[in-house]
Amino acid sequence: MSKEEFIRVDGRKPDELRKYSINAGILKNADGSAEIRLGKNWIVVGVYGPKEHFPKFEALQDRAIINCRYHMAPYSTTERKSPKPSRREIELSKVIRTALEQAVILEKFPEMSIDIFIEVLQAEGSTRVASITAASVALAEAGIPLRDMVVGCSAGKVSGKIVVDVGEEEDKEGEADLPIAIMPNLKRVVLLQMDGKLTHEEFKEAFEKALAGALELYEEQKRALKGLIEKMSEIPSEGDGNEQGV
Ligand code: ADP
Repeated sequence: MSKEEFIRVDGRKPDELRKYSINAGILKNADGSAEIRLGKNWIVVGVYGPKEHFPKFEALQDRAIINCRYHMAPYSTTERKSPKPSRREIELSKVIRTALEQAVILEKFPEMSIDIFIEVLQAEGSTRVASITAASVALAEAGIPLRDMVVGCSAGKVSGKIVVDVGEEEDKEGEADLPIAIMPNLKRVVLLQMDGKLTHEEFKEAFEKALAGALELYEEQKRALKGLIEKMSEIPSEGDGNEQGV
Protein backbone atom coordinates (compact mmCIF):
# COMPACT_ATOMS: atom_id res chain seq x y z
CA MET A 1 0.00 0.00 0.00
CA SER A 2 1.45 3.41 -0.88
CA LYS A 3 1.68 6.15 1.76
CA GLU A 4 -1.08 8.15 0.09
CA GLU A 5 -3.58 5.28 0.32
CA PHE A 6 -3.29 4.87 4.08
CA ILE A 7 -6.57 5.95 5.65
CA ARG A 8 -6.78 6.31 9.40
CA VAL A 9 -9.43 4.97 11.79
CA ASP A 10 -11.34 8.28 11.63
CA GLY A 11 -10.97 8.60 7.84
CA ARG A 12 -8.07 11.08 7.92
CA LYS A 13 -4.97 11.03 5.74
CA PRO A 14 -1.60 10.69 7.55
CA ASP A 15 -0.88 14.45 7.22
CA GLU A 16 -4.36 15.65 8.13
CA LEU A 17 -5.22 17.39 11.40
CA ARG A 18 -8.65 16.91 12.92
CA LYS A 19 -11.08 19.81 12.40
CA TYR A 20 -9.99 22.65 14.67
CA SER A 21 -11.02 26.07 15.88
CA ILE A 22 -9.65 28.46 18.49
CA ASN A 23 -11.55 31.35 20.05
CA ALA A 24 -10.06 34.05 22.29
CA GLY A 25 -11.76 36.09 25.00
CA ILE A 26 -14.59 33.65 25.70
CA LEU A 27 -14.79 34.16 29.49
CA LYS A 28 -16.16 37.39 30.97
CA ASN A 29 -14.37 37.21 34.33
CA ALA A 30 -10.86 35.96 33.58
CA ASP A 31 -8.08 38.37 32.55
CA GLY A 32 -7.48 36.25 29.47
CA SER A 33 -9.20 33.20 28.04
CA ALA A 34 -9.44 30.91 25.05
CA GLU A 35 -11.04 27.68 23.93
CA ILE A 36 -9.79 25.11 21.47
CA ARG A 37 -11.71 22.43 19.64
CA LEU A 38 -9.60 19.80 17.95
CA GLY A 39 -11.73 16.93 16.77
CA LYS A 40 -13.84 16.15 19.82
CA ASN A 41 -11.32 17.72 22.20
CA TRP A 42 -12.87 20.77 23.81
CA ILE A 43 -10.64 22.69 26.20
CA VAL A 44 -11.21 26.01 27.94
CA VAL A 45 -8.37 28.06 29.47
CA GLY A 46 -8.70 31.00 31.87
CA VAL A 47 -5.73 33.17 32.88
CA TYR A 48 -5.46 35.54 35.86
CA GLY A 49 -2.65 37.99 36.45
CA PRO A 50 -0.01 39.16 36.72
CA LYS A 51 -1.05 39.79 40.30
CA GLU A 52 0.74 40.02 43.65
CA HIS A 53 1.91 36.56 44.67
CA PHE A 54 0.48 35.10 47.82
CA PRO A 55 1.84 33.90 50.26
CA LYS A 56 4.42 36.65 50.00
CA PHE A 57 7.36 34.60 51.36
CA GLU A 58 7.08 32.30 48.31
CA ALA A 59 7.29 35.17 45.81
CA LEU A 60 10.45 35.46 43.69
CA GLN A 61 12.31 38.76 43.78
CA ASP A 62 13.49 38.69 40.18
CA ARG A 63 10.52 37.21 38.29
CA ALA A 64 6.94 36.08 38.31
CA ILE A 65 5.77 32.58 39.20
CA ILE A 66 3.43 30.68 36.88
CA ASN A 67 0.82 28.45 38.50
CA CYS A 68 -0.76 26.02 36.08
CA ARG A 69 -3.57 23.55 36.61
CA TYR A 70 -4.58 21.04 33.94
CA HIS A 71 -7.85 19.43 34.95
CA MET A 72 -10.16 16.96 33.23
CA ALA A 73 -13.85 17.29 33.97
CA PRO A 74 -15.49 14.07 35.27
CA TYR A 75 -17.55 13.91 32.05
CA SER A 76 -14.58 14.53 29.73
CA THR A 77 -13.67 10.87 29.31
CA THR A 78 -15.63 7.77 28.24
CA GLU A 79 -15.74 6.57 31.85
CA ARG A 80 -16.47 9.08 34.62
CA LYS A 81 -13.16 10.46 35.86
CA SER A 82 -12.78 11.26 39.52
CA PRO A 83 -12.82 15.06 39.95
CA LYS A 84 -9.75 14.71 42.22
CA PRO A 85 -6.48 15.58 40.43
CA SER A 86 -4.85 12.34 39.28
CA ARG A 87 -1.08 11.76 39.07
CA ARG A 88 -1.38 12.25 35.30
CA GLU A 89 -3.06 15.64 35.73
CA ILE A 90 -0.44 16.77 38.25
CA GLU A 91 2.32 15.72 35.84
CA LEU A 92 0.65 17.37 32.85
CA SER A 93 0.16 20.60 34.82
CA LYS A 94 3.92 20.70 35.36
CA VAL A 95 4.82 19.75 31.78
CA ILE A 96 2.48 22.43 30.37
CA ARG A 97 3.78 25.06 32.80
CA THR A 98 7.39 24.29 31.85
CA ALA A 99 6.54 24.69 28.16
CA LEU A 100 4.67 28.01 28.57
CA GLU A 101 7.12 29.50 31.06
CA GLN A 102 9.80 29.66 28.34
CA ALA A 103 7.71 32.13 26.36
CA VAL A 104 6.46 34.42 29.16
CA ILE A 105 8.75 37.36 30.00
CA LEU A 106 8.66 36.56 33.71
CA GLU A 107 11.37 39.11 34.64
CA LYS A 108 8.91 41.92 33.92
CA PHE A 109 6.81 40.95 36.92
CA PRO A 110 8.94 40.32 40.04
CA GLU A 111 7.04 39.11 43.12
CA MET A 112 3.94 38.46 41.07
CA SER A 113 2.16 35.38 39.80
CA ILE A 114 0.19 34.32 36.77
CA ASP A 115 -2.46 31.61 37.08
CA ILE A 116 -3.39 29.36 34.17
CA PHE A 117 -6.47 27.18 34.64
CA ILE A 118 -7.05 24.54 31.97
CA GLU A 119 -10.34 22.66 31.94
CA VAL A 120 -10.65 19.71 29.59
CA LEU A 121 -14.40 19.51 29.00
CA GLN A 122 -14.08 16.72 26.46
CA ALA A 123 -11.00 14.61 25.72
CA GLU A 124 -10.07 12.79 22.54
CA GLY A 125 -6.30 12.38 22.57
CA SER A 126 -3.44 14.93 22.42
CA THR A 127 -5.00 17.15 25.09
CA ARG A 128 -1.63 18.30 26.50
CA VAL A 129 -0.59 19.94 23.23
CA ALA A 130 -4.08 21.33 22.55
CA SER A 131 -4.05 22.81 26.09
CA ILE A 132 -0.72 24.53 25.45
CA THR A 133 -2.00 25.98 22.17
CA ALA A 134 -5.12 27.41 23.85
CA ALA A 135 -3.22 28.61 26.96
CA SER A 136 -0.83 30.63 24.81
CA VAL A 137 -3.78 32.45 23.21
CA ALA A 138 -5.30 33.08 26.67
CA LEU A 139 -1.98 34.53 27.91
CA ALA A 140 -1.79 36.82 24.87
CA GLU A 141 -5.39 37.90 25.42
CA ALA A 142 -4.55 38.76 29.04
CA GLY A 143 -1.91 41.15 27.67
CA ILE A 144 0.96 39.20 29.22
CA PRO A 145 4.19 39.89 27.31
CA LEU A 146 5.40 36.81 25.44
CA ARG A 147 8.65 36.19 23.57
CA ASP A 148 6.60 34.23 21.03
CA MET A 149 3.40 32.22 20.89
CA VAL A 150 3.59 28.58 21.96
CA VAL A 151 1.83 26.03 19.80
CA GLY A 152 1.69 22.27 20.11
CA CYS A 153 0.84 19.26 18.01
CA SER A 154 1.43 15.51 18.21
CA ALA A 155 2.50 12.85 15.76
CA GLY A 156 2.64 9.11 16.21
CA LYS A 157 3.06 5.69 14.67
CA VAL A 158 -0.12 3.80 13.98
CA SER A 159 -0.19 0.45 12.09
CA GLY A 160 3.40 1.14 11.04
CA LYS A 161 2.60 4.57 9.53
CA ILE A 162 3.64 7.98 10.84
CA VAL A 163 0.59 10.21 11.34
CA VAL A 164 -0.04 13.73 12.62
CA ASP A 165 -2.41 14.78 15.45
CA VAL A 166 -2.95 11.50 17.27
CA GLY A 167 -6.57 10.78 18.23
CA GLU A 168 -7.65 8.84 21.32
CA GLU A 169 -8.07 5.48 19.60
CA GLU A 170 -4.75 5.91 17.78
CA ASP A 171 -3.10 6.80 21.09
CA LYS A 172 -4.39 3.54 22.63
CA GLU A 173 -3.71 1.27 19.64
CA GLY A 174 -0.64 2.99 18.18
CA GLU A 175 3.02 2.05 18.56
CA ALA A 176 4.28 5.52 19.48
CA ASP A 177 3.14 9.04 20.38
CA LEU A 178 5.29 12.20 20.06
CA PRO A 179 3.75 15.40 21.44
CA ILE A 180 5.77 18.57 20.76
CA ALA A 181 5.32 22.29 21.43
CA ILE A 182 7.32 25.05 19.76
CA MET A 183 7.83 28.79 19.66
CA PRO A 184 7.27 29.18 15.91
CA ASN A 185 9.14 32.45 15.29
CA LEU A 186 12.05 31.79 17.63
CA LYS A 187 12.21 28.25 16.21
CA ARG A 188 12.56 26.70 19.65
CA VAL A 189 11.18 23.42 20.94
CA VAL A 190 9.63 23.90 24.41
CA LEU A 191 8.14 20.43 24.85
CA LEU A 192 9.12 17.09 23.41
CA GLN A 193 7.92 13.82 24.88
CA MET A 194 7.78 10.35 23.46
CA ASP A 195 5.81 7.29 24.43
CA GLY A 196 6.68 4.07 22.53
CA LYS A 197 9.49 3.27 20.11
CA LEU A 198 10.55 4.89 16.83
CA THR A 199 13.61 4.37 14.65
CA HIS A 200 15.74 7.45 13.92
CA GLU A 201 14.10 7.80 10.50
CA GLU A 202 10.60 7.43 11.96
CA PHE A 203 11.41 9.95 14.68
CA LYS A 204 12.51 12.45 12.05
CA GLU A 205 9.35 11.92 10.02
CA ALA A 206 7.12 12.15 13.12
CA PHE A 207 8.88 15.33 14.29
CA GLU A 208 8.46 16.93 10.88
CA LYS A 209 4.77 16.01 10.75
CA ALA A 210 4.15 17.37 14.27
CA LEU A 211 6.04 20.55 13.33
CA ALA A 212 3.92 21.07 10.19
CA GLY A 213 0.76 20.49 12.26
CA ALA A 214 1.90 23.02 14.86
CA LEU A 215 2.62 25.63 12.18
CA GLU A 216 -0.91 25.11 10.78
CA LEU A 217 -2.39 25.63 14.25
CA TYR A 218 -0.24 28.76 14.71
CA GLU A 219 -2.19 30.32 11.83
CA GLU A 220 -5.42 29.54 13.73
CA GLN A 221 -4.00 31.13 16.92
CA LYS A 222 -3.30 34.31 14.95
CA ARG A 223 -6.78 34.22 13.42
CA ALA A 224 -8.31 33.91 16.91
CA LEU A 225 -6.37 36.91 18.24
CA LYS A 226 -7.00 38.98 15.11
CA GLY A 227 -10.72 38.18 15.38
CA LEU A 228 -10.68 39.51 18.91
CA ILE A 229 -9.01 42.79 17.88
CA GLU A 230 -11.59 43.24 15.12
CA LYS A 231 -14.42 42.63 17.61
CA MET A 232 -12.92 45.21 20.01
CA SER A 233 -12.61 47.83 17.28
CA GLU A 234 -16.33 47.43 16.51
CA ILE A 235 -17.28 48.77 19.97
CA PRO A 236 -17.85 52.52 19.55
CA SER A 237 -15.89 54.53 22.09
CA GLU A 238 -17.63 57.24 24.13
CA GLY A 239 -18.17 60.52 22.31
CA ASP A 240 -17.04 59.29 18.88
CA GLY A 241 -20.35 60.35 17.35
CA ASN A 242 -21.66 56.83 16.81
CA GLU A 243 -24.18 57.04 19.65
CA GLN A 244 -26.96 58.13 17.33
CA GLY A 245 -27.05 54.79 15.58
CA VAL A 246 -27.21 52.74 18.81
P1 ADP B 1 -2.81 13.42 25.89
O1 ADP B 1 -4.24 13.81 26.14
O2 ADP B 1 -1.88 14.57 25.95
O3 ADP B 1 -2.66 12.60 24.62
P2 ADP B 1 -2.44 10.89 27.29
O4 ADP B 1 -1.60 10.25 26.25
O5 ADP B 1 -2.12 10.60 28.73
O6 ADP B 1 -2.39 12.50 27.13
O7 ADP B 1 -3.97 10.53 27.08
C1 ADP B 1 -4.48 10.18 25.84
C2 ADP B 1 -5.98 10.27 25.87
O8 ADP B 1 -6.53 9.25 26.71
C3 ADP B 1 -6.56 11.57 26.45
O9 ADP B 1 -6.54 12.63 25.53
C4 ADP B 1 -7.96 11.15 26.77
O10 ADP B 1 -8.77 11.15 25.59
C5 ADP B 1 -7.76 9.73 27.25
N1 ADP B 1 -7.69 9.68 28.73
C6 ADP B 1 -6.78 10.25 29.53
N2 ADP B 1 -7.05 10.03 30.83
C7 ADP B 1 -8.17 9.30 30.85
C8 ADP B 1 -8.97 8.76 31.90
N3 ADP B 1 -8.69 8.93 33.19
N4 ADP B 1 -10.06 8.05 31.52
C9 ADP B 1 -10.37 7.84 30.23
N5 ADP B 1 -9.67 8.36 29.20
C10 ADP B 1 -8.59 9.07 29.50
